[in-house]
Amino acid sequence: MFTLLDPHVHTVASGHAYSTLKDYIEQAKEINLKAFAITEHGYKMPGSCGEIYFRNLKTLPKFVDDIRIYKGIELNILDTEGTVDLADRFLARLEVVIASLHTACIPQGTVDENTIAIINTMKNPNIKIIGHPGDVLYPINIEKVVKAASDMGKVLEINNASLKPESHRKDVNSIKEIIRLCKEYNVPMTLGSDAHFYKHLGDFTFAIELLEEFNISDDLILNTNIELFERVLEIK
Ligand SMILES: [Zn+2]
Ligand SMILES: [Zn+2]
Repeated sequence: MFTLLDPHVHTVASGHAYSTLKDYIEQAKEINLKAFAITEHGYKMPGSCGEIYFRNLKTLPKFVDDIRIYKGIELNILDTEGTVDLADRFLARLEVVIASLHTACIPQGTVDENTIAIINTMKNPNIKIIGHPGDVLYPINIEKVVKAASDMGKVLEINNASLKPESHRKDVNSIKEIIRLCKEYNVPMTLGSDAHFYKHLGDFTFAIELLEEFNISDDLILNTNIELFERVLEIK
C-alpha cells in the first residue's frame, strides 16, 4: 500500500510531543510524504495549547517546500453527549478534525457509554474522523460505531501508535474487527501515525500489516489518494 499523507501528527505544542513543525516538514521531504496534518490536542489535555493556537493556524502557509500542511486538531471527547473542547465556529475553519477518547479527559465508561459518546460526537458536522477507536481502555460496540460512521459519512482511524507493543491502548482484535466491518459497510479509514516525534511521521507499519489480512481496496484508505482524502474531508 502506497501512502501519501499522514493526517494525525503532534508537535511540541501538544505539551507531550518532542518535535517541531519544521522537524516534520524536513522528515516529510526525507520520506517523500506529500502532505500531513498537524493535529494538536484540544486544551483539555494537560499541557496542550489553547483556543488561540487553533484560531491562529491561518498564519501557516498551505504548502511549505511543496509539502501540503493541513490545519487540524485532535479534539478530546468530554462526555457521552459528544461535547468537545473547541467551539464549532473555530472547528469550521480547520481542515482535519479528529475527535478521540483520552483518559486525561473522560472517565473510562461502559461499552454503552463509550459507544454513545462516539456516536454523539459524530453528529457534529465539523468532526470528520474518530481517532483511535478500538482502544482497550474504551471498549465499544464496534458494529454500532461502524454503522453510525456509514450513516453519517464519517471516517474511522486505524491508529498505528495504538498497535505498537508499548501502547497502553493496544487491542488488536478490536482493530481487526473495525477493519472487517469498515470493509463490509464501505466506511473509509485513515491511517494515523499519531506521531509525537518526527521519526514516526508517516509510519503505518503495524496498521498496514493488519489491513493486508483483509484485502482492503485502496479506495477505502484515504492516505493513498490526496484528492479522495480532501473530497471526503471537504477540504478546499
Ligand atoms: Zn489520541
Ligand atoms: Zn494523537
